[in-house]
Amino acid sequence: MTKFTDLNLDKKVLKAIAETGYDTPTPIQAGAIAPALEGKDVLGIAQTGTGKTAAFTLPMITLLGRGRARARMPRSLVLAPTRELAAQVAENFDAYAKYTKLTKALLIGGVSFKEQDLLIDKGVDVLIATPGRLLDHFSRGKLILSDVKIMVVDEADRMLDMGFIPDIEEIFKKTPFTRQTLFFSATMAPEIERITNTFLSAPVKIEVARAATTSENIKQGVVMFKASRKDREGTEKRKLLRALIEAEGEACTNAIIFCNRKSDVDIVAKSLKKYGMDAAPIHGDLDQSHRTKTLDQFRDGSLKFLVASDVAARGLDIPAVSHVFNFDVPSHAEDYVHRIGRTGRAGRKGAAIMICNPRDEKNFEDVERLVKMEVPRLDNPLDNRPAPTGQQDDDGSKVEDKPKRSRSRSRKPREDQADAKTEQPVAEAKPKNDKPEGEKPQRGRGRGRGKQDGEKQDAKADDAPKQDERQQQPRNHDNNRDNNRGRGGRGRGGNDNKVVGLGDDTPAFIALSFAERPKG
Ligand code: AMP
Repeated sequence: MTKFTDLNLDKKVLKAIAETGYDTPTPIQAGAIAPALEGKDVLGIAQTGTGKTAAFTLPMITLLGRGRARARMPRSLVLAPTRELAAQVAENFDAYAKYTKLTKALLIGGVSFKEQDLLIDKGVDVLIATPGRLLDHFSRGKLILSDVKIMVVDEADRMLDMGFIPDIEEIFKKTPFTRQTLFFSATMAPEIERITNTFLSAPVKIEVARAATTSENIKQGVVMFKASRKDREGTEKRKLLRALIEAEGEACTNAIIFCNRKSDVDIVAKSLKKYGMDAAPIHGDLDQSHRTKTLDQFRDGSLKFLVASDVAARGLDIPAVSHVFNFDVPSHAEDYVHRIGRTGRAGRKGAAIMICNPRDEKNFEDVERLVKMEVPRLDNPLDNRPAPTGQQDDDGSKVEDKPKRSRSRSRKPREDQADAKTEQPVAEAKPKNDKPEGEKPQRGRGRGRGKQDGEKQDAKADDAPKQDERQQQPRNHDNNRDNNRGRGGRGRGGNDNKVVGLGDDTPAFIALSFAERPKG
């Protein structure tokens, strides 16, 4: 098996790699590093979690070892779709280039131009940027791209989703024709194919398996859910989410909860907090310092539940995430793969549980088609939960949260009072323009880009609830067990492990751990 030491990497780079504890390249690294070191263009079809950042960072550092950057003329360029991803690449660069004298600048929104200008003026070897911010610097005359020798495009498929392809093309055109290009994408949509045909020269193509879909260490499940009443959908869905989290017990050491819409990210985070869970939101409308702080807290374990949008959490490398909960079925099937890829990283076990509304069934079918498997159906843990005495429909599950008013004093049904009390601060009504995460980059340079330079609205996103409200019968979990590839003993244990607080009618699903408990 190839070792890093077999590759022609600079000694200083090898020393830094040794310190990270890695000695064997991942498949994308084994495939990409050698041709990149030979100066060839590389087309890497790999998603996050495969080690692709090092696959381009390590040869870049080696190749840039000789030579010096001139003022305002970076020698290499890495483009990433979001600020967080760009920051992550910068962290990787710092770790692997620590024994070299190479310099870098990170150009992302939310950071003052002045600071970034100072660095660029000094001259940097590596410029890591989101496309919008880079073009803004360019249009202000602060940046010259004619000395770029290596250009990396990371997560090109995400760039496409976010509408950055025109920006990428513009940047390509501003760099020298002779540059070397390392291009990474999880998928090869026709538009990506077109770009690579136009801007890459006889690339060496390396394709690695989709880590998340082939990964046996992520146990997946979906709960088919239909609200008792349309106006209670949000409340009941959040209640279901809490029950699913609780059902995982101690196996759930931390989790990322994905929502399709930014407003839901806020609502779910507030709701979880209200119910005593340690949760915080992250999405593109929050300012950068807030996002960074929240992520740091999640990384260092001081925050247990990160409620996130796709854009904000895409590609983030947080090694020990035990669970991913999909509060919504993502509207683009590939996002499912990216979402669940946040767990089960670096050989750990992980669990990914999703809630599917009847109106999300079409998207769910797309997910199953993409991952080429039937996602195991899980029982709704609330289905067999006895209703609290005297109440038909208990929103909060925490009865003590509710006003202890006599029912006769109000014409409102009791459950609506509960809604009002427990959920009102996180206003259910969605603003009209509440689209799935992302903001449209404003066309034209220097015309006041949106503050989220790395985030763009998905024009195709279908925001309006679909009319298809067909009742989906939840499939019986046990009947599907045979189909549950790799379910690893789930469903074997009977009802021995009673779950505190659920009474005697605990469904088998709740009493069982979802997967082998993730380590770390
Ligand atoms: P990436 O796909 O670049 O986001 O990397 C995913 C994770 O794999 C990161 O935590 C890296 O530190 C880790 N990683 C990168 N290269 C290796 C390697 N050769 N062996 C083990 N882990 C690695």
